[in-house]
Amino acid sequence: MTNKSVPDRYGVVGHPVDHSRSPLIHTVFARQTGQNLTYELIDAEPGAFETAVRGFGAAGGKGLNITVPHKEAAFALCADRSEAARLAGAVNTISIEAGRLRGDNTDGDGFIRDVTVNQRQALTNRRIVVLGAGGAARGIVGPLLGEQPAEVVIANRTSDRADQLVALFGTDPRLRAVSFDALKEMPAVDVLVNATSAGLKGEVPPFPPSLVGPQSFCYDLVYGSLDTPFVTWAKAQGAGRAVQGWGMLVEQAAQSFWIWRGVRPDTKQLLKQIPR
Ligand code: NAP
Repeated sequence: MTNKSVPDRYGVVGHPVDHSRSPLIHTVFARQTGQNLTYELIDAEPGAFETAVRGFGAAGGKGLNITVPHKEAAFALCADRSEAARLAGAVNTISIEAGRLRGDNTDGDGFIRDVTVNQRQALTNRRIVVLGAGGAARGIVGPLLGEQPAEVVIANRTSDRADQLVALFGTDPRLRAVSFDALKEMPAVDVLVNATSAGLKGEVPPFPPSLVGPQSFCYDLVYGSLDTPFVTWAKAQGAGRAVQGWGMLVEQAAQSFWIWRGVRPDTKQLLKQIPR
């Protein structure tokens, strides 16, 4: 426990933000590690985002998580950015020091930790397909390539965005973009990642069943209290395993906590008790 009587202030900015689990997660982490801090919910519409962040910093706030729809605006606002933030073009973690904003992106790290540590799914030498090319996909592609996969294929409904995402990584021969249609020609993959937001509206994007086999590990970034539409679909196709993104949520938060406080919380304990 620190000796300071006034807790350091943190929070999450989003719109809407009232259903965010981040206050619960960071409060549990703080209790577990003896850190003296508070964590608040800040609802800001896009036009009010910059004022909300700068006002929080001016009032002594130490750090913010950033969620939908502000991650790209947060990237633009930060004077300093980590390599992960630069690759993602998006910021989900801001540290504030003397009014200066430093932006990080912990989504990719959280995803890799959940898959490789919590789920014990190897990525090295695996054939991986990522569906989607939005902010979350941008955050995970660099860390995925860092795991030395055999290949990473990106497919997106708007195929230009998949091409642009691949172009960010230059001419890495392990990475390519294909159309949704071309997925029908591919054999079952080792790892299938759903980084689309289709599940939020109860939809499964039109993926060919041939992508999934008994050896396939299917991971949905979306999470919910019941199986997500993608997880339900993957199980129905006979996937070896199909999981949703609760672990990524907790692990990306743990990485933010580490950036802010220099202490790594025990995520396993929280993953067992987080209300779903
Ligand atoms: P985003 O930037 O808005 O991108 C949305 C992506 O979904 C785009 O690729 C979009 O394709 C695609 N899409 C949307 N509806 C679709 C549909 N009906 N069929 C096919 N593709 C569809 O969102 P994001 O920030 O990348 O987030 C994606 C998801 O990841 C969200 O559900 C978010 O909640 C989740 N997420 C989870 C965590 C976690 O910790 N577990 C962290 C970050 C994000 P187009 O380009 O064609 O529009």
